[in-house]
Amino acid sequence: MPVKRSFLSRTLLALLCGIAAFIALGIWGEYATLKANYQKLESHLLQTAQAVGQHVDDSVELAELAIATIEAEIDENRNGEDRLVELRKVMRQQQQWADRLEGIVYIDKMGGIVVASTSPKISAINVSDRDYFIHHKNSVSLGTYIGPPIRNRVNGEWAISVSRRINGPNGSFEGVVLASIKLGHLLEFFSRFDVGADGSILLARGDGLVLARLPFPEKVLGNRMPADDPFVKILQDPDPHAQRFLSKVDGTVRLAASYQSPRSGVLIAASASEWEMIADWMARAKWRWMFGIFMVALACILTIRWRTQAELRAESEAKLHQRDEEFQLIAEASADLIEKLSMDGTRQYVSSSAQRILGRNPEDLVGTNIFKEIESAQARHAAEIWKKLEAGEAVSRVQYSMERLDGKVLWLDTSISPLKDPKGNVSGFVAITRDVTRQKAMQDELDILANTDALTGLANRRAFDIRFESLFREAEEEAKPLSLLMIDADCFKQYNDSYGHSAGDDCLKAIAAAVSGSLRATDLAARYGGEEIAILLPGTGEASAALVAEKIRRRIERLGIRHEANRPWGRVTISIGIGSFEGQALDPPLLFAKADSALYEAKRRGRNRTLLASTLSADSFASTG
Ligand code: GH3
Ligand code: MG
Ligand code: MG
Repeated sequence: MPVKRSFLSRTLLALLCGIAAFIALGIWGEYATLKANYQKLESHLLQTAQAVGQHVDDSVELAELAIATIEAEIDENRNGEDRLVELRKVMRQQQQWADRLEGIVYIDKMGGIVVASTSPKISAINVSDRDYFIHHKNSVSLGTYIGPPIRNRVNGEWAISVSRRINGPNGSFEGVVLASIKLGHLLEFFSRFDVGADGSILLARGDGLVLARLPFPEKVLGNRMPADDPFVKILQDPDPHAQRFLSKVDGTVRLAASYQSPRSGVLIAASASEWEMIADWMARAKWRWMFGIFMVALACILTIRWRTQAELRAESEAKLHQRDEEFQLIAEASADLIEKLSMDGTRQYVSSSAQRILGRNPEDLVGTNIFKEIESAQARHAAEIWKKLEAGEAVSRVQYSMERLDGKVLWLDTSISPLKDPKGNVSGFVAITRDVTRQKAMQDELDILANTDALTGLANRRAFDIRFESLFREAEEEAKPLSLLMIDADCFKQYNDSYGHSAGDDCLKAIAAAVSGSLRATDLAARYGGEEIAILLPGTGEASAALVAEKIRRRIERLGIRHEANRPWGRVTISIGIGSFEGQALDPPLLFAKADSALYEAKRRGRNRTLLASTLSADSFASTG
């Protein structure tokens, strides 16, 4: 668990650092974007102000051109008969050329309209109260004067007046020529520039008199902004850059860029709502952040997943390592030889008992393959066991002998169990080997004792019965002969009676030794009853068996053991019945019965003789059966 916690805390710390770095970078990026937006807006407003200023200048110049043409016409045709008709013709021509002009008017020194381009019948109108008239009347300057916006007394349209004073030949005030620019035309031009929903474009005279504004609140037209108004200061700032200000017209905070025309001296301020620009930036930033947060969340999930898996892997590796160590601890403490084998039988681990049991260094055995040590005779059996183990069979146990390097023959008992991985697949094997040499020797000794007759040292009846069955089957399968000799000492009851039971035992021992001495290693002699011996001769037919029987009979006779009561020989003799199996229809009990009948018949015919069962008539066989 501590491993898990430290893994998690390290992951969390790394994630937090990553998220902090992401937020810092994001904020820095957003700040840079906002700054760039400011700069973009500033340059857009400056360009707007300049473009509008130039357009206003062009309009003023068009008006001045019209005025200059009219002045020249007045000068040239001062006393002409149709001078007024001519003048009006020129005026109309000028107005046609410059359709942004609302009208051209010639006013006399009393303020009466002499000629107007718009209508021939407005001479009744007097404009002596108009600002521009008063200005020209009182000023000797012949320069162009831009007056406050005026409203046409005939059609109600707003216009900006551009006018000049007309002097008489002696320099006296003779009147005014005026060309008015349609305010609607200028406002239409202003509207071509995008300053946003809350932006504005303001046109003012150099002294702060408002000439036009978009949006168009009529009430501000002609207002003169005080010289100390902060907005006027912004307007008059010669440095071309945008500044923030609070609009007195609608209370909106705007970013404004100004331009003052060096030609006409008019001031233009293009402004846009700061909040509108920020709102636009925020709307875009929102999507950027949402995308960024989504990506960070995704990265977090993937990182946590990856770390959790890595942590689980490390944990299971640690567990495996611990298990391995525990396994080795147990293996080292065990008296048995414990080995870990790979799927192909290569030793991956060998416990230290290898030294004591096999006389081999464990390190030398690691990497060697057990199959290389299995004798070829055992290879098939070993492969079968291995196949079962690979299929996941729990434990396989084998007992085998092997010769150590020092020549000592060992009996080993090995249990092999498959090792399974977490998915349940066999990944290797564990072999536990015990040295059973001593037990094996004891077992063998016990086996011998259980199968041996204590008095004669021959096999006992139990061993005989087992062996008889298997030898008979072998003879049948391999189509080989098998003979059985049944031996019985003659008049042995009397021997005991004459020389005592102990002498009888000694005699039996002597008979058994003589019998054993007459046989091959593959033959089996067993004490079948009190003084009866049965002999199995594998691979021996009737004729050979008769010879062997005769040899044994004579050998006993030649022992010359005194037995007075056994007349006519006066020594110990035996009788032998011979039965043989040579492929005929027989089974072990029948073969036994045949040999026994032959023995019975031998006794009957006088003892100390051998007799083949095949020589017996069916009757005699039946009578003993
Ligand atoms: P036969 O010639 O017909 O075989 O006469 P027999 O007296 O030998 O008769 P039988 O084979 O029936 O007698 C067996 C006798 O062998 C009985 C017993 O006194 C003797 N005997 C059996 N087992 C032992 C033994 O272990 N030790 C001794 N000393 N005598 C035994
Ligand atoms: Mg007997
Ligand atoms: Mg006998």
